[in-house]
Amino acid sequence: MDTREFRKWAHEMADWMADYLETVEERPVRAAVEPGDIAKRLPSTPPEAGEDMGRIFADFRETILPGITHWQHPAFFAYFPANSSPPSVLAEMLTATLGAQCMSWQTSPAATELETRVMEWLSQLIGLPEGFTGCIQDTASTASLCALLSARERATDFASNRSGMAGQGRMTVYCSEETHSSIEKDVGIAGFGRENLRKIAVDDSYAMRPDLLSEAIDRDVAGGFTPVCVVATIGTTGAGGIDPVAAIAKICRKHGIWLHVDAAWAGSALVLPEHRWMIEGIEGADSFLFNPHKWLFTNFDCTAYFVRDPAALVQTFEITPEYLKTAEGDRVVNYRDWGIQLGRRFRALKLWFVLRHYGAFGLRQAIGGHIAMTRRLVERMQADQDWEVVADSGLALFCFRWLPAGIADPVRVDSLNEALMQRVNATGRAYFTHTRLRGRYVIRWSVGQTATEERHVEAAWALVRETAAVLAVEAGVG
Ligand SMILES: *Cc1c(COP(=O)(O)O)cnc(C)c1O
Repeated sequence: MDTREFRKWAHEMADWMADYLETVEERPVRAAVEPGDIAKRLPSTPPEAGEDMGRIFADFRETILPGITHWQHPAFFAYFPANSSPPSVLAEMLTATLGAQCMSWQTSPAATELETRVMEWLSQLIGLPEGFTGCIQDTASTASLCALLSARERATDFASNRSGMAGQGRMTVYCSEETHSSIEKDVGIAGFGRENLRKIAVDDSYAMRPDLLSEAIDRDVAGGFTPVCVVATIGTTGAGGIDPVAAIAKICRKHGIWLHVDAAWAGSALVLPEHRWMIEGIEGADSFLFNPHKWLFTNFDCTAYFVRDPAALVQTFEITPEYLKTAEGDRVVNYRDWGIQLGRRFRALKLWFVLRHYGAFGLRQAIGGHIAMTRRLVERMQADQDWEVVADSGLALFCFRWLPAGIADPVRVDSLNEALMQRVNATGRAYFTHTRLRGRYVIRWSVGQTATEERHVEAAWALVRETAAVLAVEAGVG
């Protein structure tokens, strides 16, 4: 493709992108296709001759788009958001155009130095105390794996990297029973063995109970295990529980255990000073992460990973074969040594665009707005006897269920709630996902898409109530 044609298509696609953002609200939020529907429309062999961009783009619109779930739809209330913003998308276009592979300082000095600076900015924006150094990772799953590997290396004096896990004794890791599944996956990958992950029970607010953590550690020490890492969560994925970091940090300090804090979703709320109580005691943590790609208007992927001791991180991952040596030596940072992969995308650029476009004030307003509209919705639901707010994070996530009048059997209530959610999702006008809390089926309501306004929340709440009314009649309980 010559640059004349590239220019023409770039303009055309930029127009399409703006049109998409203007009209995404009219599309069904969740893709309304069956498994295999898209695959059967794709040729089973690659083209022999190159194809015209006009046809490729038309197929994107006609074949691919119907199979897309619109995460940037303002009625996307499922999972956690993976929100984005126009400045982030513009930066991503530039990143793709530069096509720079930013593994070392020398392979793009600006990428390295900008990453260092935006991590400093981010740390100030969320009120992290002095003494944390940040870098960008692709996802929370990867950043938590880095934390577990660093904890393992510190506990074994860097011997497991050298000679493997055999002879290192039995090491244990702790989290709560509400901790994200990525931690258990990482514990397996890091070689601890998933059965050496202790899942500590939670209290009524779905937060880890430090007294039970302390007991579990004592039991393991007495049983000949070596406790290596505790993972605390700020904003659990199911119900938004907030583990008490200060109390957990105290226990970790006493035993010399690595404390990793996963704030993947809720970390963005720290731009608001009134929510900073959530990181009380964070100075006792060894590592901390949150995902600007969830709730900070930066398109996927972008995880901010902060550590107290970058030297321990680098010592865990550094490996420099002859072909990667550069003349700058110790005078520069080489982020390839700060994580698992060698090659790195230029992710700092989109974060820089976002932070400058919004400013601290704009970020506080946007995130504060999501929280405020969620608060108003929670209040209204609490005032309605047909509905129960089962768990409330105090942020922009809560879990609820329908209490159909006259039905006491909890299994029947579960199945009616499941039917309700599926029917709402099938309308394409909103998208929710569920979890189970204390065994009961609950619907999660997570607000955080960039364009979500009060009217979208209102419309979805009306849709939920109308759908429940129809179901009630059908189930003979109306
Ligand atoms: C979403 C989430 C994760 C996983 O995030 P990825 O970036 O997709 O790996 C981990 N922990 C928590 C608490 C989360 O909410």
